[in-house]
Amino acid sequence: MTTLQLQTGVEALKGVGAEMKKDLERLGIFTCEDLLWHLPHRYENVEIRPVEELEHDEQATLVGTVQGPPAVRHYGAKKNRLSLRLFTGGHLVQIVAFNRAFLKNKLQPDTTVTATGKWDRYRAVLTAQRLEVGEPDETRAYSPVYPISGKLNVRQLEQWIKQVLQQEVFPPEVLPLSIRDRYKLPAMAEALVALHQPESAQALKNARRRIVYEEFLRFQLRIQAYKRTRRESERAVPLNISAEATQPFTESLPFSLTHAQRRSLQEIMNDLRADFKMNRLLQGDVGSGKTVVAACAMYAVVSAGKQTALMVPTEILAAQHAESLADFFHPYGIELALLTGSTKTARRREIHAGLANGTISVIVGTHALIQASVPFQDLGLVITDEQHRFGVEQRRALREKGNPDALFMTATPIPRTLAITAYGDMDVSRIDEQPCGRKDVKTYWVKPDMLERVVDFVRKETDTGRQAYLICPLIEESEQLDVQNAVDLHAHLQTLLPAHHVGLLHGRLPTEDKEGAMDSFTKGDMDVLVATTVVEVGVNVANATVMIIYDADRFGLSQLHQLRGRVGRGAEQSYCILLSDPSSETGKERMRIMTETTDGFILAEKDLQLRGPGDLLGQKQSGMPDFRLADPVHDYRALETARQDASALLDSDSFWHHADYEPLRNDLEETGAISGKKLD
Ligand code: ADP
Ligand code: MG
Repeated sequence: MTTLQLQTGVEALKGVGAEMKKDLERLGIFTCEDLLWHLPHRYENVEIRPVEELEHDEQATLVGTVQGPPAVRHYGAKKNRLSLRLFTGGHLVQIVAFNRAFLKNKLQPDTTVTATGKWDRYRAVLTAQRLEVGEPDETRAYSPVYPISGKLNVRQLEQWIKQVLQQEVFPPEVLPLSIRDRYKLPAMAEALVALHQPESAQALKNARRRIVYEEFLRFQLRIQAYKRTRRESERAVPLNISAEATQPFTESLPFSLTHAQRRSLQEIMNDLRADFKMNRLLQGDVGSGKTVVAACAMYAVVSAGKQTALMVPTEILAAQHAESLADFFHPYGIELALLTGSTKTARRREIHAGLANGTISVIVGTHALIQASVPFQDLGLVITDEQHRFGVEQRRALREKGNPDALFMTATPIPRTLAITAYGDMDVSRIDEQPCGRKDVKTYWVKPDMLERVVDFVRKETDTGRQAYLICPLIEESEQLDVQNAVDLHAHLQTLLPAHHVGLLHGRLPTEDKEGAMDSFTKGDMDVLVATTVVEVGVNVANATVMIIYDADRFGLSQLHQLRGRVGRGAEQSYCILLSDPSSETGKERMRIMTETTDGFILAEKDLQLRGPGDLLGQKQSGMPDFRLADPVHDYRALETARQDASALLDSDSFWHHADYEPLRNDLEETGAISGKKLD
């Protein structure tokens, strides 16, 4: 056989013909290297243990001797079921295997066989996926199972991979010994052998650790190097602000900032005063006080003589923000304007003029703000709320408005690990504590047929002057149906609460009606607001203490959490009632989790487990690289380690000069992370 190289085509392997080649290609395997990276997706535990130790339904391997002749039953032309009695470790058990009739003649009484499959403890039956004559051929405890396609089978793949492994051609070692020693990681070659032919659970674990760490380290080196390069190339004139510029403002607030708010503000101020453009994500649960932090930063920028814009996804939210910011800024004589799609032409002209000549320092609005026609005199800082609702295009448009410092706020409590990967080139600040004195929202899960009792509760709460939200089911396929639901529930509730003011808010209402409803709820004139999920983002009514979510199982955990965050904003005890009767286990699980925790970060982790990262972030914008083995959710500790290591390496002299790091440096060179080309 010819000597194999990593790039040698698979057809050079013994036993790979034209047809097999096609099946391999379908798995993305063209070369020997591809074959090496075709890693088992699981391992069968073929460790042999006594029958009495096996758990019900466990994957198990039994070795024993055949007792009496095997029985075969055929059904149809191709299907059959073979069963035999096996004597193993003093026990007589039954082995069942499908479509192995061809083995029948080999399975004479007293023949030794090895069977691996699922153990039914109650019936003493092993349903075998593998049935081999003889003792187990290897002493290995784990047998790899590979993804296959077409006519391929796992054992063939195993053979071909063995051929490549025997030639000892491996992908180059990129991790220097110093790093491998630090974490006791095997070399690349050793790791790949162990992944395909594990000797022990420990060897397998170490091999995995090695590959995962390398993937994360290279990824982190790349995004961090890219970030540094971009900072170099986009050097900015630092804003002329002192570290204490926000002090008068923060001191005039009716409360003191939480520790986390202060830390985040400090990080933002450092960016503003640095000679690079801020590109920062401010993450914090609903009600954690992001808006206040944003206001402090805006104040600092305005006091340095620049303009600042706050962009939010909905008109309602824009109006709310404008109002609360105006309260903050009014005492300082700072001019603020609100600009949305429904701003009247005359007012719009006024605003444009004010922005162009600099009399307006703070502008709040929807994405109408970033239209080309909106002129700024000197835009220093742009803040976007609920940044995940804005696309890449809108962010780019922003940069074209004079490339201001950018702060993105989100209430989606993305787990830190995921934030690192998803927003790779952004810095992240987290507000991970709620202002003190705030009580956790008490959460209950009840069946929908309890609606009337829930309404009794609402009546009691509203009679003491508090307010309630009732959120309608979300039916993704049709906004029309969402609206119908809201309209019906609203009518029903009006009959149940004839003496109360029950309002309605949904996306199809004219802007004035939306604003009217929101206004009257904010002012406390309205007792109950029946709404679709338009209230999801940002709305702040401290007097609202009850949140009822109809058909709650239709929402994901993160969304439920967002909705629940609408209450519990004042000093009073608040309640969240989930009305739902989920049929699926995940649905029930979600309801349970909601009643158990109010910590957004825990909920986000759970959501991630139940739904996967793509779902949480929106597949397209998740920006998650394709790792071979690494999983940012499950391997988050390794990711964090790699992140710190990458940063230290890039800071160190030896990384840039020592021969040990050449492979990693080359990696950066090739991906364009140092030359400042775009990351893929
Ligand atoms: P977010 O934007 O993160 O949802 P907000 O900034 O709107 O949160 O704050 C929610 C409410 O909490 C507001 O009424 C705000 O005035 C109040 N708040 C913010 N920070 C504090 C604090 N440190 N102490 C007390 N109340 C605070
Ligand atoms: Mg907010």
